[in-house]
Amino acid sequence: MNKDMAIIVKDLSYTYKAGTPLASKALENINLEIPKGQFVAIIGQTGSGKSTFVQHLNGLIRTSPGHIWICGEDIGGKDVNLKELRHKVGLVFQYPEHQVFEETVYADIAFGPKNLGYTGEELEKAVRQAMHLVKLDYADFKDRSPLELSGGQLRRVAIAGVLAMQPSILILDEPTAGLDPKTRDEILEQIRRLHRETDLTVILVSHSMEEVARLADQVFVFHRGTIALQGHPRELFQEEEALTSLGLGIPQVVRVMRRLAESGIPVDPRVLNTQEAAEQIIRRWRAHA
Ligand code: ADP
Ligand code: MG
Repeated sequence: MNKDMAIIVKDLSYTYKAGTPLASKALENINLEIPKGQFVAIIGQTGSGKSTFVQHLNGLIRTSPGHIWICGEDIGGKDVNLKELRHKVGLVFQYPEHQVFEETVYADIAFGPKNLGYTGEELEKAVRQAMHLVKLDYADFKDRSPLELSGGQLRRVAIAGVLAMQPSILILDEPTAGLDPKTRDEILEQIRRLHRETDLTVILVSHSMEEVARLADQVFVFHRGTIALQGHPRELFQEEEALTSLGLGIPQVVRVMRRLAESGIPVDPRVLNTQEAAEQIIRRWRAHA
């Protein structure tokens, strides 16, 4: 399998409680490819299968039926090394604060790398670096109890715990859900910088179309366990009717530009942020002045 692809998924389906009267189909025939280093967003209504899908990528849910290759390696086989896989693919859960925490921030972030066999200085270095990446001051936070942290700080601890394992693929399942706008922007900015400065492949499950427009190279839209749409956000957000019919929206600035274009003002509605929109409008203005 192609090693330039971080992830290849072929004909993946999944049913919870399969073979029982409570069986519920969560994924149906998913096919996708994610090149190494790409920033990918997954969007879709609640219950569309996003969390079920990403849990397949680090082996938390085993593939059946279907195939997944991570950096060229089939992870469906019985002999797959799950420890190695979780080293390679870091998954930050939706609402990580619902998980049990260790007594100190240090112990919590060290948990993963320790399991991978890191000890002594190497372990401390991994924790220190991870805390630096999420902007948690090492000296200030290492001995604190996670229980006394704010929601945003807890989220950073959870992300640091995964980064400390130095994964090559980072998956974040709605990492900013429930956070205030300022904390949300800070955490996203850190993820963006991390992606820009390293060769990390990032998969972000998100509810925010603005977030997706700002960050993603490629977007997959999940709907009832299938991929209903996919593409670069610049093109994807032009599919306003299709997205609306799936219960999703488009960024406000794209909607405004589309309305201007529809009313005969010759602007290109394929913008991703307010700055691009402003440039379009100023260009029109100058052309008429
Ligand atoms: P999303 O993350 O997009 O909200 P999920 O992957 O959590 O979607 O859920 C997909 C479908 O699988 C939903 O219908 C959900 O009710 C069902 N589901 C999720 N987790 C479980 C579970 N542990 N047992 C049974 N059904 C589940
Ligand atoms: Mg989910």
